[in-house]
Amino acid sequence: EATMAKSKFEYVREFEADDTCLPHCWVVVRLDGRNFHRFADKHSFAKPNDSRALHLMTKCAQTVMEELEDIVIAYGQSDEYSFVFKRKSNWFKRRASKFMTHVASQFASSYVFYWRDYFKDQPLLYPPGFDGRVVVYPSNQTLRDYLSWRQADCHINNLYNTVFWTLIQQSGLTPVQAQERLQGTLAAEKNEILFSEFNINYNNEPPMYRKGTVLIWQKVDEVMTKEVKLPAEMEGKKMAVTRTRTKPVPLHCDIIGDAFWKEHLEILDE
Ligand code: ATP
Ligand code: ATP
Ligand code: MG
Ligand code: MG
Ligand code: MG
Ligand code: MG
Repeated sequence: EATMAKSKFEYVREFEADDTCLPHCWVVVRLDGRNFHRFADKHSFAKPNDSRALHLMTKCAQTVMEELEDIVIAYGQSDEYSFVFKRKSNWFKRRASKFMTHVASQFASSYVFYWRDYFKDQPLLYPPGFDGRVVVYPSNQTLRDYLSWRQADCHINNLYNTVFWTLIQQSGLTPVQAQERLQGTLAAEKNEILFSEFNINYNNEPPMYRKGTVLIWQKVDEVMTKEVKLPAEMEGKKMAVTRTRTKPVPLHCDIIGDAFWKEHLEILDE
């Protein structure tokens, strides 16, 4: 008889599938909002980019990075966020289902928890959901190509959406007419429509819209007010105290070229 009490039902545990992520590989969890086309509509998101929604997404991603272990970088755009766990992470014995469900549930509860900070008096009409997937990348090159793929997707969609919505909002085209106008156009032609017809230089659009958001750990000086303990004559007085903390900091820069990775060698070295 075993010393540990075990019921005769215990054997059902053996039915659990082994979903250990391959050792020494980058583990990526990508979340995507469920039916956010409708969610954006119902909550009157500004088109093509609602900055409140993008900032809320980033707040949720920062919460995920602070609450969970071993995330070295995250990248977000539209209704999606990708989280990269360090190669040597042994969190939950590298079980894919644990990584994915902890990220998704922490993110979704944060979205509801922080909604009001970004949307003020506009009510949240129903509980949003996010799907998650896990992909394992065996090398620095494949991880970089993954992140480049997401940022290229951001660029392609944002360029299209920027012209599409400008045609609707400034020229009064219907969505069908705008879509027909853009059918088969190349990037250069979309840039040209924006520039010649609307005097918009696409490169001057906000970097958060064009590049998405990268979150990396950086040292930040935090100024807090602290109550003074001593000397006695200053009791109860408040003083500004600066301390350094490591936080997930948002950047809206290019991550496709080498410059970002050369400037942040520590990310891929982890
Ligand atoms: P699925 O459940 O398959 O993901 P979906 O409707 O969420 O369906 P996506 O391809 O994920 O489809 O696209 C997300 C949609 O959400 C965008 O096309 C856009 O309409 C909307 N959206 C997301 N974020 C924003 C934002 N910040 N501003 C404006 N619209 C947004
Ligand atoms: P882990 O993250 O590993 O799941 P855990 O602290 O959640 O850690 P569990 O084995 O899931 O550990 O146990 C959940 C614990 O939460 C219980 O041991 C109990 O202390 C507490 N708990 C959960 N639900 C209730 C409840 N309804 N009333 C009182 N305590 C509860
Ligand atoms: Mg989709
Ligand atoms: Mg979606
Ligand atoms: Mg999406
Ligand atoms: Mg528990």
